[in-house]
Amino acid sequence: MSEHLEEARRDMVERHLKGRGIHDERVLAAMGKLERHRFVDGPMMSRAYEDRALPIGQGQTISQPYIVALMTEALELQGDEKVLEVGTGSGYQAALLSMLCERVFTIERHSELLARARRIFDELGLGNIVSRRGDGSIGWGSEKPFDRIIVTAGAPAVPDSLVRQLALGGRLVLPVGDRREQELKIIDRLSDSTFRGRTVAPCAFVPLLGKEGWTLSGA
Ligand code: SAH
Repeated sequence: MSEHLEEARRDMVERHLKGRGIHDERVLAAMGKLERHRFVDGPMMSRAYEDRALPIGQGQTISQPYIVALMTEALELQGDEKVLEVGTGSGYQAALLSMLCERVFTIERHSELLARARRIFDELGLGNIVSRRGDGSIGWGSEKPFDRIIVTAGAPAVPDSLVRQLALGGRLVLPVGDRREQELKIIDRLSDSTFRGRTVAPCAFVPLLGKEGWTLSGA
């Protein structure tokens, strides 16, 4: 089983990541190492290296490997950054970030998902991840500023709190759109009051629910 999974992981990196234009060597190496199958439930394990989102319970999903790679590459991490992730989910993206930067702060609104992700962080000995339950659409004010912020749920608009928690020279990567489809956006903070944004690719994430996200009722 584990040999088969290792081969599937290598294949994922070659075909779905390199094959589709991901070129950041650190991202490719980290995704080649990190065992995505640990972050999904038993029945899904054999499918962990397919290039697709998979269910993780509570109606949520672990994102498609290509999109994880694209967003992580867009962060342009060098290794010394303090990064905020909104939407811990399975913990896979946070674990990947922890291999590529100095410190990761990750926030999740579902306590069950957070508890499971934390267990995996412990098992893997990832000591540079701080996590908490809460509404990440308003960021993590007490820990600002962040060099990078990544949102792994779809927002109706760019949350103002998140841009304000970016360090100067910092970067925010997030999906923005309607509840079903979004566009991946990169926003750079050039100075105190100057921001530059661009759109990278279409994507489909579960909704960001919260004060600066979608309302729970779906309005
Ligand atoms: N990064 C995750 C993918 C998570 S899916 C992974 O690697 O598996 C998106 C997650 O965002 C879900 O778990 C959902 O519960 C969470 N979420 C949605 N709105 C949120 C909010 N306002 N604050 C924190 N988490 C939120």
